[in-house]
Amino acid sequence: MQDGTLSILLVEDNALDAELSLEYLRNAGLTFKAERTETREAYQAAIRAECPDLILADYSLPNFDGLTALSIALQECPGTPFIFVSGVMGEEVAADSLKQGATDFVLKQRLGRLVPAVTRALSEASERRDRKQAEDALRQSEERLRLALSTARLGVWELDLSNYHLECSSTCKSNFGLSPEAEFAYNDAWAAILPEDREQVRVRFEQAIAAKSNFQAEYRIRWPDGGIHWALANARVIEGVGDEPVRMSGVTLDITGRKQAEEDLRRQTRELKAANADLAQFAYAASHDLQEPLRTVSIFSKLLAKKYKGRLDTEADEFLEYLESAAQHMSALLRDLLTYTRVPADERAFEWIDLNAVLHRTLYLSRTVVEETMAVITHDQLPCVFGNDAQFGLVFQNLISNALKYRNSRRPEVHVGVQRDQENWVITVKDNGIGFDQAYAEQIFGLFKRLHKGEYSGTGLGLAITKRIVESHGGRIWATSQPGVGSSFCFTIPVAPEDSKPAPEGR
Ligand code: ADP
Repeated sequence: MQDGTLSILLVEDNALDAELSLEYLRNAGLTFKAERTETREAYQAAIRAECPDLILADYSLPNFDGLTALSIALQECPGTPFIFVSGVMGEEVAADSLKQGATDFVLKQRLGRLVPAVTRALSEASERRDRKQAEDALRQSEERLRLALSTARLGVWELDLSNYHLECSSTCKSNFGLSPEAEFAYNDAWAAILPEDREQVRVRFEQAIAAKSNFQAEYRIRWPDGGIHWALANARVIEGVGDEPVRMSGVTLDITGRKQAEEDLRRQTRELKAANADLAQFAYAASHDLQEPLRTVSIFSKLLAKKYKGRLDTEADEFLEYLESAAQHMSALLRDLLTYTRVPADERAFEWIDLNAVLHRTLYLSRTVVEETMAVITHDQLPCVFGNDAQFGLVFQNLISNALKYRNSRRPEVHVGVQRDQENWVITVKDNGIGFDQAYAEQIFGLFKRLHKGEYSGTGLGLAITKRIVESHGGRIWATSQPGVGSSFCFTIPVAPEDSKPAPEGR
């Protein structure tokens, strides 16, 4: 049907008879376009051009016959209703035509039956069409679902709770290591689950039925080849008319790969933690235990110097000096190493700390060098943060002492600034010292990394300690510098939600 206009194909040699039939339909209010054919060729051409909505055919024609027209219609346009409209048609012939697939028949002498016959045939055809469309849509969506289930390797199962009959899809069976043809009953499923996992699955299963809720369980199953696989089952309990649980409908998934990956990750984390703990223990013990013999070396080198300085030759005096300064350097190294091993701090020692107070304390402790260098140190109003007070003291001490140590001939100027960057405070310690090549900006945070050996004393651990402290507080640290101009060391600290504003002036 195009534009709501019915298309009727007539098989009729008598033009008047054809017109009469159409008049009946017109009078009943039907709008249509009609084409009359009386030979096989014309009929076939018309039907092949486009399937009509209705075929009205005479039973016997001089050059064609109605039954052949019917069989062609059934082949070419099986959905089109086909009604015989004939002058002579015995009951037997009529019954036979219906058997062969005609929709109806109407005698020309009783054309009054034509309209109800056509109306019924058209409405049945439209119902058939709708049903077919719905069936096609259903078939397509089932096909898509099947494809999705098999791509996701999801097995589908259904359990009848009245007799515990289990239906299991082929993927469901393959999740149990079985072929699609294998017999697989309810008890086989339980038997496949490892005994040590069975109890928890059974408890969840029974709880789900009792509460008519969802069932979910992860468990191991033993495949017929002996292999152990992890499976995940998810199901819904379906209630009957009287609200009693009648069925369980669910899916299974082989999650062996995921479980393996989880287990690998857990093992690696465990190993890493153990290795880290061993390393920290080793570094701590080494730096701690080495201090004792070092102290002896230091004391005796001092005694030697005291007793023999100026009494041996100048070279010997020099050697004694080397010895003493090497002992001092090593002592500083061990002290810094010990400090390094003690970070990350115990989070239980975290508290609200006012960075202004921490900075003032650091400056007070460094007052000798500040005075000696006549440094000008300024700072913004700093925020309160959540962390370890002593460790933030160390951060400022390391950054400020470096800023003063790596000064040039200018009077040192150091500024401690703060900015808010979304979830973080960004604290910057800026100096006007010797600076360094930006290419080394990452390296200097490594253990024992020093760019200015010889000229300046140090252990190469200050920035490594600072980095470790900052990171253990959830921040990061970086540096920018220009030789001869100065350096900026920036580090972040997360802003806690209840501490979203910088500390008020004058604290
Ligand atoms: P060190 O004990 O050598 O000072 P750090 O870990 O504190 O060790 O610093 C590593 C290296 O980074 C230093 O040796 C120095 O070369 C460079 N450095 C650190 N701070 C500054 C700075 N403010 N200006 C220039 N160079 C710096």
